[in-house]
Order: sequence, then C-alpha cells, then structure tokens
Amino acid sequence: MMGRMILFLALFAVTLASEGHEQINYDEQNHWGDICITGEHQSPIDVPLPSSKVKVSAETPFLQLPMKNFKMTNLNNANTVKYSVNPDQTVAQVPWMENREVTLMQLHLHWGDSAARGSEHLIGGKAFAAEAHLVTSYTDSDGSTKYMVFARVFKAGKANALVELMIEGAKKENEDRKIDSFDLSALYPANSDIWKTYMGGLTTPPCSEVVHWVIVRKPLTISKRQLKQLRKMSLGHGDMPAMTRNWREIQPLNGRESTKYHRG
Ligand SMILES: [Zn+2]
Repeated sequence: MMGRMILFLALFAVTLASEGHEQINYDEQNHWGDICITGEHQSPIDVPLPSSKVKVSAETPFLQLPMKNFKMTNLNNANTVKYSVNPDQTVAQVPWMENREVTLMQLHLHWGDSAARGSEHLIGGKAFAAEAHLVTSYTDSDGSTKYMVFARVFKAGKANALVELMIEGAKKENEDRKIDSFDLSALYPANSDIWKTYMGGLTTPPCSEVVHWVIVRKPLTISKRQLKQLRKMSLGHGDMPAMTRNWREIQPLNGRESTKYHRG
C-alpha cells in the first residue's frame, strides 16, 4: 500500500513538473520516470552523421512564415523562459517536408551553468552555450497530432537581439510581459543552408515520443551577460526560483538515423 502511495506521489510530481508548476530536477534525470526512462526514441541526442542527404533548391524557404513580425506573450513556466507565438493558431509551411502545415505554438530557451554546455543537442559531438526551441504542431498521416520542433543553437559571443527581447519581456510584470514585434525569421532564416532532422521526443517529462526534430547547423551567438541573466532570472511569473541549468542529457540513438538537408 505504501509503495503504491509513493508511486502515486511520484507520478503526481512528474505531472506537475510537466505542467510547469514545479521545477524539473535536472540533477536527477534518472528519476523522471515513465517513457523518459523506458522510451527508445528519446531526445536530445548527439545528432549523428546523416544516413541520407536531400538537396533543397535555392528558392525553397527553410520555413515559410506568414508574416515578418509576431506578437509574443511571456508564458514562463518554472523551468524556462517561454513565449507563445501570436496570434494563436498561426500556420506556417515547411516547403521541404511536402509543404507540411505547422501551427506555431511557442518558443523557449535552454541554457547551462557554463557557456561550455547549455544546448540540449550536440552537433557532431559538440555542445553549445544555449538552444532555442520553436515548438509547432502538425497532423501526421495517421491523423494524430505530432510536433515539429525547430532547434537553433547559440555559441558564446556577441549578444543576440532576439534573446534580449525575451529576457527583457520576461522581467516585466503582468500585462507588460509581451513583445510587440519579434522577428522569428532572425532565429530561423528562410535561407538557412544546412539542417538535420530525426524522430525523437519532448526533452521534459512526460518525454512523449512525438517530435520531428529539425536542427539548424549554423550556431548564432549569445553573450556571457545574457547567459548570466538567464541563470539568474526568477521564472514563472517572477515567483519561481531561477534555474542555472535546464538541459537534458543526451539519449541513446537506438538505431535512429538522421537526414541532412542542404541548399544549392
Ligand atoms: Zn525545449
């Protein structure tokens, strides 16, 4: 009976963490439970050498966004700096993926306690200082809802203006936690020249294996000051502690393959 109670409490804690009311324990990732432990298509990974390559024509946009600037609303949870992309239900196209229509949902960041490691994915064994995830949803061929998440890594260097907007917006209070004009294409340019894709999962509990990952190879830069601000920022609505680190360890490939797309 006691064992069952403990299991129930453990599951309850994981559910809360996934909804962002409680902080995820990144130092105890082996206790995340469920699919996070038993799944075989988990994320992030050290993106492997591609098993196939696809050439994309010079005119094909990496991501066809319906407008240049978006309104963003701060939705920080206990674990990350996060913004909804507005208006709600905005659709974009992925031209190189059979013109897949994806619904833009949210953008959030991962960082670490040093500039040497803050990205979730590794690219060719290399870690980066931070990683942005643009989460979109799509309807798969079997009718189920899946996610296409666009990852962009940052190395330490010059400050990034988009990250600056995210930091500043998250510091404000209530209705002011908005960004009036956010150029998503500055993070995900139409003319990106190399990206890799693989099938994986959410990198936070419940770690559901429903994500088509897209990783842009070329890093952007983020400044050490910005990284420091992220590590010190009170999360939630300013009522949750800061997180010095919110990246998950890399997961086994288990035979998964990646596809490399390149332009020209
Ligand atoms: Zn993420």
